[in-house]
Amino acid sequence: MTDSEHDITAAERDVVLRLLEPRGEHAAAFRAQLAGARVRSSCECGCPSFLILVPVTGPRSTAPRSESTNGPLTDGYAETTDGHAIGLILWQSAGLLCAVEIYAYEDIGPFALSDLVSISASDRSDGPPTASP
Ligand SMILES: [Zn+2]
Repeated sequence: MTDSEHDITAAERDVVLRLLEPRGEHAAAFRAQLAGARVRSSCECGCPSFLILVPVTGPRSTAPRSESTNGPLTDGYAETTDGHAIGLILWQSAGLLCAVEIYAYEDIGPFALSDLVSISASDRSDGPPTASP
């Protein structure tokens, strides 16, 4: 994993858009923030969690803030290509996207964003789509 900051990649944008899906039109402001967003890895353990840096000043600061409150936006679910269950949480702060937390339910060692398949999401207020064991 690298600490270097970079423009959000297509793969990272894809994950965020997938996680915003259950929010429907209420996520319009968050989607708009992806245009100028920068990304930095937020983890040392080998998981692909990342911070989303939305510019609020300067020439890239056209992003509107959402009226939503702070905290987690949605819960995501995915599998790795070799079948392990993965959880994702999309976080915001003060109406701006701020992080995607990605975790395995068991210790599976390092994995990458590109190892994730079947990403789905549910609104935090709706609970998970299926009952957890
Ligand atoms: Zn990690």
